Amino acid sequence: MPTDPILDKLKLADPLLWINPHRQPADAVLPGLELAATHLQGAVGQLDWLAPLVARLFPETAERGGIIESRLLEVPLFARELVHLTGQRTRGRVLLKADHALPVAGSVKARGGIYEVLAFARRLAEREGLLEPDDDSRRLADPSARELFSSHTISVASTGNLGLAIGVAAAALGFRAVVHMSAEAKPWKKDRLRRRGVEVIEHACDYTDAVARARRAADDDPSVHFVDDENSVDLFLGYAAAARRLVGQLRELSVEVDAAHPLVVYLPCGVGGAPGGITWGLKHVYGNAVHCFFAEPVEAPCMLVGLATGFDGRTVYDAGLTVNTEADGLAVSRASELVGRLVGRLVSGVYTVEDQMLVEGLRALWSTEGIRVEPSAAAGFVGPAMLTGTEAGRGYLEATGLDGELDRATHVLWTTGGLFVPEEQYRVWGVDGRVEKDGDSPRGG
Ligand SMILES: *Cc1c(COP(=O)(O)O)cnc(C)c1O
Repeated sequence: MPTDPILDKLKLADPLLWINPHRQPADAVLPGLELAATHLQGAVGQLDWLAPLVARLFPETAERGGIIESRLLEVPLFARELVHLTGQRTRGRVLLKADHALPVAGSVKARGGIYEVLAFARRLAEREGLLEPDDDSRRLADPSARELFSSHTISVASTGNLGLAIGVAAAALGFRAVVHMSAEAKPWKKDRLRRRGVEVIEHACDYTDAVARARRAADDDPSVHFVDDENSVDLFLGYAAAARRLVGQLRELSVEVDAAHPLVVYLPCGVGGAPGGITWGLKHVYGNAVHCFFAEPVEAPCMLVGLATGFDGRTVYDAGLTVNTEADGLAVSRASELVGRLVGRLVSGVYTVEDQMLVEGLRALWSTEGIRVEPSAAAGFVGPAMLTGTEAGRGYLEATGLDGELDRATHVLWTTGGLFVPEEQYRVWGVDGRVEKDGDSPRGG
């Protein structure tokens, strides 16, 4: 295959910002995609319908009526600290979208993963005549539904967090749950799943191979529903629904979003479903006023490789990289082609981050705001500095006219995981002290 200049640069494993040359105005792209605004509305409606069931299955969500949602936080001390972390003063307001504290799964996977399991349960129950379309969703927790689910298996491959979300949701409904875990998966994630009755199969291979093995195992057995992280529309839509919720939260904080008040969103990216779904949803809401950047580890920039090479099958290994990273949620060698098709012309760019910066970032967030996140979730923090502090970023600011608006912009750093990380692990990262359970910082919005 032809060598690509960007692959040669990635080989150095130095942080860089890649501006997406394929990007186009939202209204030129969205109407031609395989998923439309009606799908986004459908996902939001489905989540509303499911809420009473979620409240029953997971009492920790009852207070919010079974809506699994995180807060949008003001983090003034951390925003000021960014200049020390990155060497760049941030122009504009900085907010944190606190998915590190999402209930049930403790990561952004609570959005896509739980949506996928519940949507599958609904279809199965309807097909077997146990549920009418306008029934209360709590019927899915009836003994007859449980009995049906107990003869089905939900299987998934995961570096950790997706397995937690799928495994916990599947087990709560009475499904048999199997999680195939790749070499990166942390032991505590396996333990947590096993304690909840989830079967964990450990593989010595990387994530992409673990997905392939799990997919093959499921293909041979019709009673197994395989949650395909690389190809699942339900996962994507579950993530996308976050966009609709963010609109109300921005309004509550009096954040305007329009051409003169741009929104810039920084999203940690693994296989691409979570950042892709959120980007696609936000583009439906805000069009060209929102700019979405994906963040990947220097050793695992799979979406950058996919977008830059047109998803021709090359992986981060073809760029001479290893996938070794402390950011286990992002340790993926090949990105989702489905996501590439859906957001390949919507995402503004992708930047890469070194592990050391991830750990420094999570420490800075802890020391300034008392909020704890895992390394994957810290990948967004350097985003604003990549825009103002690199040649590629400054080129983007000029080309889009964003430069003149940046002081009125709002940056949203999406913190994607961390709630269930054990105390000992936080100590290893140099973060200890009082236990903070739900991400509610004393000053947090
Ligand atoms: C999975 C994950 C992501 C990225 O989601 P993808 O859908 O794999 O791109 C980001 N952060 C954390 C903590 C995750 O677990």
